[in-house]
Amino acid sequence: MMDSRTTDWDIVIVGAGIIGCSIAWHLRESSLRVLLVERSEPGGLATNAAAGILGPLNETSGPGPLLDLMQESLSMYPSFVDEVQRSSGLSADLVPSGILSVATSQDEMKNLTAKWEWQQSRGKDLSFLQSDEIRKTFPSLSPDVQGAIHYPHESHVFAPRLLKGLLGGLGRTSVAFRSGTSIRRIRPEANGEMTAETSHGDRIRSRQIVLTPGAYLNEMEIPDPVPPITPANGQILSVRIPDFPLRKVVFYPTKGYFVPKLDGTVVIGATEESVGFQTRVTPRGIMEFLAPLEHVCPRLLDAPLQMTWSGLRPKTPDGLPVLGSHPIHSNLVFATGHYRNGILLAPVTGRKIASLLQTKKNDDSLLPFSPERFA
Ligand SMILES: Cc1cc2nc3c(=O)[nH]c(=O)nc-3n(C[C@H](O)[C@H](O)[C@H](O)COP(=O)(O)OP(=O)(O)OC[C@H]3O[C@@H](n4cnc5c(N)ncnc54)[C@H](O)[C@@H]3O)c2cc1C
Repeated sequence: MMDSRTTDWDIVIVGAGIIGCSIAWHLRESSLRVLLVERSEPGGLATNAAAGILGPLNETSGPGPLLDLMQESLSMYPSFVDEVQRSSGLSADLVPSGILSVATSQDEMKNLTAKWEWQQSRGKDLSFLQSDEIRKTFPSLSPDVQGAIHYPHESHVFAPRLLKGLLGGLGRTSVAFRSGTSIRRIRPEANGEMTAETSHGDRIRSRQIVLTPGAYLNEMEIPDPVPPITPANGQILSVRIPDFPLRKVVFYPTKGYFVPKLDGTVVIGATEESVGFQTRVTPRGIMEFLAPLEHVCPRLLDAPLQMTWSGLRPKTPDGLPVLGSHPIHSNLVFATGHYRNGILLAPVTGRKIASLLQTKKNDDSLLPFSPERFA
């Protein structure tokens, strides 16, 4: 590992959430001098709050570049976590569980059928299950469940442990890590380099800077134009239920889900609120996704509550991530705005942004996510 007190770098990555760490991971074998900078707890805004669901089809409302990017990232997951585990010794608990998206009323069935119509040809081995089949195969679900789409190849991962593994693995490479350092301002220099100024007034010079601060992007002073990112607070909780027989991730309307984890907990979430940078958990918030569970899997409502928490998803106005170079300063690169799917999109973001930094050539598949769209 390089000495993180050095002030001259080839690449400085601002923010050690899953996105910044995945980019650093994909640069670890390059000969570039790379510094990863973090203001507080790595992944403390969003990554450590995530349920870890890897569900491209379940998450999209139509075909397009986002779905393509998510499916590409999902296909990278097994080798990504495998490499991280081999390097760090930590398992990220990737579980090829499959996902069920269920409907419990006539209206929800209409929406599910519409989703099925465009999705059935977009994924492998998908099926539409009717109520009698659901009752037989998944007896822990409520008899109120009328239909479900089954995505057998979608999965989930333990996001905080994946992040820990990435940081552990990076500690064995030449990538330097500086924690407790908040970047306040980014400035272009006359010689074409960029400077990152810390909140203590220190200056870190670099040939390229990558901004991966999640929802905090607009809190920094950055040359215009800056993509607008807002925080979308998500409240979420876990119950302890070690003998829970259902191993599938289950989504239920409008935005509820539960995820049976390998450690005997079931994660249940999540709200989406625009309340600024507040991270809070409220009775009304958790009721939003707990009340519909009565008609999906009532048993979970009687399990001992383990923990509640919340996090801030980085959201753009069009819901797409921001991936690529600043419209004016090409050596300033953005990788944020991953909103509901940053854990899923981490491997592909890491690979494509690392390649952009090394080759200075944008992959065409990144064009729909270019920061230019906000210029
Ligand atoms: C409740 C909830 C559930 C979710 N569930 C899922 C899911 O199931 N699947 C999925 O794919 N996604 C999920 N997400 C979304 C996912 O968590 C995010 O999209 C992803 O974590 C974003 O990662 P990031 O690295 O961009 O941001 P973060 O994890 O927020 O990391 C940004 C880092 O930058 C640091 N930072 C910020 N500003 C500065 C600065 N000025 N200087 C230095 N460092 C700075 C922060 O401290 C932080 O460590 C969920 C999110 C929430 C809140």
